Amino acid sequence: MNREVDIAIIGAGASGLMLSSLLDNKNIVLIDNNAKIGSKILISGGGKCNVTNGKVKPNNYLGEQRFIRNIIKRFDQHDLLKWLAVRGLTPIPRSRNQYFCENSAKELIDVFKRETSAKTYLLNRVVQTVDKEKDFFKIKTNKGTILAKKVVVASGGLSFPKIGATSIGYDIAKSFGHTINTLCAGLVGFTVQPEQFFFKELSGIAIDVKITIDKKEVEGALLFAHKGISGPAVLDASLYWNKGKISIDFLPSLRIDSLKSSKKHISKILGLPNRVAKRFLEALNIEDKSANKLTPEVWMKLEVLKNYSFSPAGTFGYSKAEVTKGGVATDEIDASSMMSKKVDNLYFLGEVLDVTGELGGYNFQWAFSTAFVCAKGIN
Ligand SMILES: Cc1cc2nc3c(=O)[nH]c(=O)nc-3n(C[C@H](O)[C@H](O)[C@H](O)COP(=O)(O)OP(=O)(O)OC[C@H]3O[C@@H](n4cnc5c(N)ncnc54)[C@H](O)[C@@H]3O)c2cc1C
Repeated sequence: MNREVDIAIIGAGASGLMLSSLLDNKNIVLIDNNAKIGSKILISGGGKCNVTNGKVKPNNYLGEQRFIRNIIKRFDQHDLLKWLAVRGLTPIPRSRNQYFCENSAKELIDVFKRETSAKTYLLNRVVQTVDKEKDFFKIKTNKGTILAKKVVVASGGLSFPKIGATSIGYDIAKSFGHTINTLCAGLVGFTVQPEQFFFKELSGIAIDVKITIDKKEVEGALLFAHKGISGPAVLDASLYWNKGKISIDFLPSLRIDSLKSSKKHISKILGLPNRVAKRFLEALNIEDKSANKLTPEVWMKLEVLKNYSFSPAGTFGYSKAEVTKGGVATDEIDASSMMSKKVDNLYFLGEVLDVTGELGGYNFQWAFSTAFVCAKGIN
């Protein structure tokens, strides 16, 4: 016999767990294809989960700004931190206002386990399709069908398929007539073209840079990687990249002019790690000698380090991306409840929507804020 429930939440990730925690109704199931709840939370923030950020503004997100503001203001970072504190979890602020679990992301999972202990989990269940028949949604899974009066799609995006990401949220939205704005990997490293293959030789080294893309400037660490470039600044830059050029200032706190009278070798005074300085000089065809002996032509060449412009070959893809850009069009969602404007009793939360946060705790905050709004609107 098919199981009948009031609310079926598809996805026991950040938004699904928060929603389930906030609802009093016990006739709820949380369906997830993993064997455990909160798989992404567990691996997030280097295992400590960057829960939120001390400064959250709509412009920390890509997406429709009014929609985002209306949702965040109902459950912002302060509300989240208070909610967690009451439940015994006090995330610690670190650099860039990022709040992390003190020891492990498991601390957050434990809060959700306690808060949802009266709810039913259906784990190792892959949702395949959702249809509507009269007053019920029919949720077909690999282990039978569930009938639900209300369905909440909290199934996340496409990134990290190895821990359960599937396209089900977009498939459900599409099947009910929703628009899916173009999807692509976000918060992800860039692969490089042959001209920049020398970056790979510097794999493992991190330096501070400023990256400019489409008038958007991002500062922070760049990590040379085996496949190209990664690190916080690159991940943030990937949100704004649309297959064009990017420009990197490899010497963000240096004026090239200030070096001209130095008697030291140029590789020693650029403020870059020695290996990086030498490899860049080689790539620019510049002999490493005393700065005060360099010709005006060489100084011109060195200016490239302040504005190194190139087109990445692509990104590392969904297997490495922290998020999926694009998603369910938000003008088709009611910001006061997260319910579809097209289909009554169908709701969308978190990353499946066309809202993407920068690096720094913004994506979990979004997942939790949408869950709160839904919890208030769904009863
Ligand atoms: C490596 C990594 C690190 C990250 N670190 C941070 C961080 O520190 N801070 C931050 O703010 N954000 C971080 N993010 C982003 C953040 O994890 C997501 O934006 C957030 O989890 C989205 O929440 P969600 O509820 O929408 O989806 P998710 O948390 O992804 O949950 C969706 C759930 O649905 C399940 N599911 C999918 N398809 C099906 C199906 N067909 N049937 C059944 N179940 C299904 C999935 O397995 C998953 O458990 C990170 C992401 C990654 C990949």
